[in-house]
Amino acid sequence: MISEKILKCRECGRDFLFTPEEQAFYAAKGYGRPRRCKDCRRAARLSKTGRVYSGVCAACGKEARVGFRPSRETLVYCGDCWAQIAAERRSFKSARPRQGRK
Ligand SMILES: [Zn+2]
Ligand SMILES: [Zn+2]
Repeated sequence: MISEKILKCRECGRDFLFTPEEQAFYAAKGYGRPRRCKDCRRAARLSKTGRVYSGVCAACGKEARVGFRPSRETLVYCGDCWAQIAAERRSFKSARPRQGRK
């Protein structure tokens, strides 16, 4: 069984989690370990496609880097929170059908 690893990001110096799923993915692709955290990887990916804007994560208050200009109406999330929200949305969808809220 593969366990989670804590790695240090070269870009921002923060510790980040290298999950078993990611380890399996990296192993399957023949990659080594990620050198950057999710935020920095995401930012690097975004910077290839265009501009990167900096905002404040609506969930945890950390810096969030996004590919669009954050406005007051738009909530932005950092990579960690976004991943969590996306996972929750996925499990919510598969766990129970949409219930009408009135
Ligand atoms: Zn980083
Ligand atoms: Zn966050």
